[in-house]
Amino acid sequence: MNQVSKIEFIKANQLKEKPNSLEFGKHFTDYMFMMDYDGDQGWISPRIKPYEPISLSPASFVLHYGQAVFEGLKAYKTRNGDPVIFRPDKHIARLNQSCERLCIPTLDPDLMMEALTMLIDIEKDWIPEEEGTSLYIRPFVISTEPYLGIRPSHHYTFMIILSPVGAYYSDGALNPVKIFVEDEYVRAVKGGVGHVKTPGNYAASMLAQERANELGYEQVLWLDGKENKYIEEVGSMNIFFKINGEIYTPKLNGSILPGVTRDSVIHLVKDWGIPLHEERISIEDLYKAHQSGQLEEVFGTGTAAVISPVGELKWEDKIITINDFQTGDFAKELYDTITGIQYGSKRDHYGWIKVVGK
Ligand SMILES: *Cc1c(COP(=O)(O)O)cnc(C)c1O
Repeated sequence: MNQVSKIEFIKANQLKEKPNSLEFGKHFTDYMFMMDYDGDQGWISPRIKPYEPISLSPASFVLHYGQAVFEGLKAYKTRNGDPVIFRPDKHIARLNQSCERLCIPTLDPDLMMEALTMLIDIEKDWIPEEEGTSLYIRPFVISTEPYLGIRPSHHYTFMIILSPVGAYYSDGALNPVKIFVEDEYVRAVKGGVGHVKTPGNYAASMLAQERANELGYEQVLWLDGKENKYIEEVGSMNIFFKINGEIYTPKLNGSILPGVTRDSVIHLVKDWGIPLHEERISIEDLYKAHQSGQLEEVFGTGTAAVISPVGELKWEDKIITINDFQTGDFAKELYDTITGIQYGSKRDHYGWIKVVGK
């Protein structure tokens, strides 16, 4: 770094051994970023320090009322060894949008970017190099005031932790998944918090997820919370359809999470000159498209998988099999393009890649 950083660096006495296996979210690197918020002073004491447990009062606000937000993004090692981060500016902006919805004081985007790049630079040896692997980045804010009254907390902690992760598709091929269309539980409603990344959304989705798993389905397809008719998301991914050569995705409506991968896919599809429709899509209309033979592909999008092809949807007593349970060419093309940009084998025409240390 050329300029003097506001971020303090507290060195570890000893570094950890790198893990042999890279199970998602299980291993953490040597360092973490931390910064505190105090009602009088604002955000203070940005620091990178050894990864270790934190201590909290049992009365900490977050433990009772869940006032918290998070992000999920990834750093990759490109073919020529550069550590890069995919679209960090978008994730930083979204974290602040989540903060606003949860009455959490927002963070300075420049300081967040500096924290992110400085931490990744220090930990670049933790970015695994094998194809498909990455360093998962988890920034989050928790409310820490020891207080049981209901009003926004006056104290917060912002942290960034890092976890090396293996390839989502361990054998390199995109595996289509079976999806249960959930018609009883809902994930989110307009006016609620579905459009931001806050822990309660995930807690609320687990029962449906467990039930779908028991029935042999990997994820649930969420319908809207009001009429139980319109398609929203698949698990914790956004969803896309290829119908008669054109691409459809549910329009952001206040309960759908605006995914960065969703945005990247939309950019690419438009750039390729393929008609893209962001609109309300009912499960009924989707079924009709399938019945008339026009439903060609279905896939989810998110940071973890990038693209996740859907091979089967179960809606009430109907089974919708998509593309003979094979990964579609369009999903594959999108996957290859986005991962190609991430790993540096394809040109980044869009300014999505932030090279760390340059
Ligand atoms: C994080 C998330 C997504 C995907 O967002 P990306 O930015 O593409 O990773 C979609 N839906 C939900 C509910 C999410 O939490």
